[in-house]
This record gives sequence, structure tokens and C-alpha cells, in this order.
Amino acid sequence: MQKAVRQSKIVSLSRAITLALLVLVSVVQAEAKDSAPLSAVPEWRFDPIPPGGDCSRIGWTYDGTPFSGWPMEQHVCEIVVILREYCDERWPFPYPHWGTDIRFPGIEGANVLSTTDYAIVGRAHDEGDWNGGMGNYVELRALDCWKERQHLRCLNEECESILEPFPELDVPQNIWQMVHTEICFDTGWFATYMHLQAVTVEVGQRVDRGEVIGRVGDTGFATGFHLHYEITSPFNGPGGAVDAMPTMCDEWIEPW
Ligand SMILES: [Zn+2]
Repeated sequence: MQKAVRQSKIVSLSRAITLALLVLVSVVQAEAKDSAPLSAVPEWRFDPIPPGGDCSRIGWTYDGTPFSGWPMEQHVCEIVVILREYCDERWPFPYPHWGTDIRFPGIEGANVLSTTDYAIVGRAHDEGDWNGGMGNYVELRALDCWKERQHLRCLNEECESILEPFPELDVPQNIWQMVHTEICFDTGWFATYMHLQAVTVEVGQRVDRGEVIGRVGDTGFATGFHLHYEITSPFNGPGGAVDAMPTMCDEWIEPW
């Protein structure tokens, strides 16, 4: 009888210990969950660079950029009212402004043009929402392309053998065509055109210089109609931004 009581005491004690262990384990797990890193946030966007801070973090080398020229039809280097607020006291946010803001009278709805040949639309957004401040945007990735001779293709029914393309003169001439294949590589350079009113291209679309990719708007973080134009180099540091202004105009009348 006494033995049975002792046994049941032991059982309830071991149950209590098990329960305590379970509670302890779940607490430890909960703590581990709380301290998990927010690894989804891209690091460079949130580097704590103070206003007027370390602008040397931004690479200013634009040698070899495949992007050049004015990104709109209206070429206004001489009369431009433009904001260049990269990383100085005028930019009161704890991360640098990576691009150039272009604004001039009548810019609303202006066509935005590709500033490079052989580009492909890497990313685009056309929801008209805040979208992290970017609003509607297009990202053009610059490609390096060349044509490679691939093979001969017969254009009529007469081409029997590639070794005898002109067997006789009195029969229909064999018509051979040299077929070329275009081979492209992503250069790593890309340009971003932000705050658009509308996007007129789709992801994956091939775009050449001067093609319309969208229209100037004020979506996302914009206090008025302007184009945020940004060139990103694969050779620069975090963010990879370059100074796009020398690529747009040879000479500027600087209003700032
Ligand atoms: Zn901007």
C-alpha cells in the first residue's frame, strides 16, 4: 500500500518535472524567435549615414557606363531646374539619395526614354502606390550583345545540299540565308527611372535607346512631378550609384 503511494508520488513528481522542462523549453524557443535577425531588409538601404555624412561610400566613377544622354525628349541642360541631393545637408534622411532628380516646367506626363541600347526591362512597377517611396518605376539592365554566325538556312525548296548551292543556271537559284544569333550578356549596369505616372514597358522586354518606357509622374515619395534618374554600376560599393549628371549633358548651368 505504502509502496503504491510512493510510486504515485514519484509519477506526479516526474510529471511536474516534465511539465517544468516543457515550459522552460518553450520560453527559450520564444526568446530565440524574438531575437531572430531581420535578414530580409537589404542592408545598404538602411546604413546609418548621417545627413551630410560619409558620401565617399557612394562611387562616383561612371567610366564605361553604357547609359548616356537625356532621359526625356525635352533636352533642358541650359534652362534646367534640377535637384541633385545625393548625400548632403539638404537630404535629411539617414540614407543617401542615390540619384538625380530632374524637374522643369511642363514635365508632367513627359515621355521617359531609354538611355542605352540593348537593354532589357529587369524590374517594373505600375500600381500607382507608395512602393517603398519609389512609386511606379522601370529598371533597365544594360546588355552587351553581338551577333554570331550560326548556320545557313534554305529559303526555297531547291536547296538540297549545302555543298552545291548553284548546281545549274536554268533552275531556280538556291536561296541561302545566313542566320545570325544574337548573344547577350547582362553587363551588371542598370538605370532606374522612378515616380512614373505610367509604365509603358513590361518586364523582360527588349528596349533600345530613345524608346519610350514610361511617363513622368509623382508616385511614391515625390513632392511634385519629377523624374528620379539613377545609374547603378556593378563596380561600385554598396548601392553602386554613380553621378549620372556628366552622362546626361556636357555642360550645365548650375542653379544650385
Ligand atoms: Zn530622387
